[in-house]
Amino acid sequence: MNATNFFSGNPDLVEVFDKAVSWDRIVRAVEGETADVTATVATWREVCDLAGRYIATEIAPRAAKVDEIGVIRDDGQIRMNEPMLENLRGLAELGLASPSVPPDYGGASLPFTVTMMIAEMLARADLATQVQHGIGWNSPAALIYRFGNDEQKARYLPRLAKGEIMGAVAMTEPQAGSDVGRLATTATQQGGDGCWILKGRKQFISAGQGDMVIVLARCVAGSTGLDGLGMFVADRERDNYVVERAEHKFTIRGSPTCALVFEGTRATALGNPGDGWKQILTFMNESRLGVGIQGIGVATAAFAKASDYAAQRVQMGKPIREHPMVAEMLLEMETTVAGARALAYEAAVLQDLVMFGRDQDAARDARELTPLVKWYGTEGAVRVCRLALQIHGGYGVVDEYDVGRFMRDSLITPIYEGTSQIQSLMAVKDLMKWTLRAPASLVRRGPSRILARASPGGRAGSDFAAARGHIQGSLRLLVARLLRRKGPALLRGAELSDEDLGPILLHAERLTESLAHTHVARVLAERARLIPERRRLAERAARTALLVTERNRRAIALDDGSVLERIAAWRSERS
Ligand SMILES: Cc1cc2nc3c(=O)[nH]c(=O)nc-3n(C[C@H](O)[C@H](O)[C@H](O)COP(=O)(O)OP(=O)(O)OC[C@H]3O[C@@H](n4cnc5c(N)ncnc54)[C@H](O)[C@@H]3O)c2cc1C
Repeated sequence: MNATNFFSGNPDLVEVFDKAVSWDRIVRAVEGETADVTATVATWREVCDLAGRYIATEIAPRAAKVDEIGVIRDDGQIRMNEPMLENLRGLAELGLASPSVPPDYGGASLPFTVTMMIAEMLARADLATQVQHGIGWNSPAALIYRFGNDEQKARYLPRLAKGEIMGAVAMTEPQAGSDVGRLATTATQQGGDGCWILKGRKQFISAGQGDMVIVLARCVAGSTGLDGLGMFVADRERDNYVVERAEHKFTIRGSPTCALVFEGTRATALGNPGDGWKQILTFMNESRLGVGIQGIGVATAAFAKASDYAAQRVQMGKPIREHPMVAEMLLEMETTVAGARALAYEAAVLQDLVMFGRDQDAARDARELTPLVKWYGTEGAVRVCRLALQIHGGYGVVDEYDVGRFMRDSLITPIYEGTSQIQSLMAVKDLMKWTLRAPASLVRRGPSRILARASPGGRAGSDFAAARGHIQGSLRLLVARLLRRKGPALLRGAELSDEDLGPILLHAERLTESLAHTHVARVLAERARLIPERRRLAERAARTALLVTERNRRAIALDDGSVLERIAAWRSERS
């Protein structure tokens, strides 16, 4: 990997672009059946190359300063620091402020897959800048483009696309984090001129220091949970809402994470009031993939640093990478980064086919892969950064070596946009639904359609098949426990309480880890078929999947019930 261009200097990313992505399907979905595929893809490749050069040579060198200075708190005003502003100005000058918006509104009309490649490179350079870019510009622009009326589009999109204003997306509240349905911010219609009044508080809002915010609020009186929500756009000018504070934090220090207060804030409805949850879900699928890809960016940075360091640091007469334990760490990092990237861009392509092509098959597959990309990309990043730090020995904790920053930044990724546990619940909920609908799948190739239809050959293929078998074995154990509780009514769609589901909820993250590794093994084995030099990488990933799925199956089989017993005791203390 070279550090002067994060696109052309990263052979794995280039391989994904040149050999793994089915661009013809994306171009036809985005630009229409008659589009010139070759010319369009060449343009998108040039954009990646241009962005890769700017990001590597301008943004990456400023990352340590962005982190050191952090957020500026100046007489009650919260601002981004100067190196961060320079990064953002540079991106805006390249026309990359809101790259997914169509040219009519000043954007570049890039598909999701290309936008994600730029996001990955930015996250590799500086995750804080990537967050400000992604959440401050691209996300509000995408939501307004998708759900806004003509007036809202004209008012916000050109300025977001030029980087003249910055926005934010506010869902989380002090009492409503993973459980979004507990949100209490209200929106009440005032008069007949389309004005709504917001009242409530939002917590942990990235880029919340900006000029406008999209707020998820309860707009149907008496509604509960995820019903009766709407999205609203509020301008900040004339203190329409208050940016109360930016949190002091050890991760993505340059990105202001703000508490916002709405007291009689004037806003307009974005899309259909009442459909807020359905609407924002479209954004959440993309941003969950985006956070998985953030993890890949940070992990790439950590892996590159550790590889260089291990090649030049000599201990006991040889470079440390020639000591087997260090070499194994480097190979694990390489497999994790390449595996996460392969899976993430497979999902990104599906997302493009869903968004632009309304492809229902792609929608089902994207739904299966999205929580796995988020889980594997972010948990993988934490693991890779931990290994990079270890490889640096004592120097790993010294600021100049950057790996400490990568470690700190990686730690936010399994938390925001739905924690790893929430991703696990999503992944396992679907898997159990498919299993109970078609229990015979447990004696065939399993309930996952994508895993079932894969049959890679060679050693990687046989380890992949064994890993898939362990997932089925794990599911059989869990379904057998449910059957013992509910009897045959289970297969006729009996209602299941949290207590019935206890073992599944307990082991959800184990199943998710098994699924993610097995999908990584699949996608790398499929790539190795096209590119024989990738065979060893695919074999390593498949061997890892086999070991992980076997361990998790045993952990489920050996569950001694103590966790659920303890929960029962805590529950009785409450009653
Ligand atoms: C730096 C930063 C930036 C952010 N940016 C934004 C933003 O721009 N916009 C926005 O709206 N929000 C944002 N967030 C909020 C973020 O999405 C939430 O912090 C996250 O969803 C978790 O919510 P919580 O912090 O309330 O944790 P909780 O929901 O209280 O979770 C605490 C712990 O309990 C676990 N847990 C909760 N429920 C379950 C369950 N059912 N099963 C198993 N485990 C469970 C969680 O996994 C976690 O480990 C940001 C947060 C941070 C820290």
